[in-house]
Amino acid sequence: MLRIALDGPSGAGKSTVAKALAKRLGLIYVDTGALYRTVGLYVRNKGVDKDDEKSVIALLPEITLGMEFINGEQIVTLNGVNVGDTIRTGEIAMYASRVSAIPEVRSFLLETQRKISRENSVIMDGRDIGTVIIPDAEVKIFMIASSKARAQRRYLELVAKGEDCTYESVLADIELRDKNDSTRKTAPAVPAEDAIFLDNSELNIEQTVDKAIEIINEKTNGNY
Ligand code: C5P
Repeated sequence: MLRIALDGPSGAGKSTVAKALAKRLGLIYVDTGALYRTVGLYVRNKGVDKDDEKSVIALLPEITLGMEFINGEQIVTLNGVNVGDTIRTGEIAMYASRVSAIPEVRSFLLETQRKISRENSVIMDGRDIGTVIIPDAEVKIFMIASSKARAQRRYLELVAKGEDCTYESVLADIELRDKNDSTRKTAPAVPAEDAIFLDNSELNIEQTVDKAIEIINEKTNGNY
């Protein structure tokens, strides 16, 4: 079993790097942000205020989340329906960021994440994987990049998808999400004590993947 916890702030390139590593090492790539986004989507669709904790918590019993992997691709279902790309908008990211600060939401999603990591070799991308979800992961990487580098990448991604946004608004969103994620009381996005930092502000994807492979080799004595 090889379990890699890949944590770090929004837009550090975790998902791109995790996908490449999963392919190279034959691991299942688990995107845990998709689960928080799916809860956010439900809250938005119900017209509930994302800052109204009590009302968000009251919705949880109505939600059945499913996570499947088809040809290595993660499918998240919300009450039986594939959410697809509907969770990949700036608006839903902000809902996810708010609802993820609620302890009841985090515990609601805990078992789905632990189960997959008990049964498979995984690379799991999130914020609290190394600290809460898989504290005994063989490898823990905390991936960072400057907020400007992250905003620039996210901006280009959103523009390519046809979203109407500016670099400044994306930077402001990223900084706000960083603040929410790192200062919340439950499972803040902080590195585990034994996590290795990987700063890719000045690296491209390939170089970041190579660096991650180096870390994995070191941690597993070259077994992978
Ligand atoms: O990674 P992604 O941007 O899809 O995550 C959306 C939001 O979900 C993050 O801003 C963060 O607030 C929350 N999240 C979390 N814990 C995780 C993954 C995501 O709190 N393990």
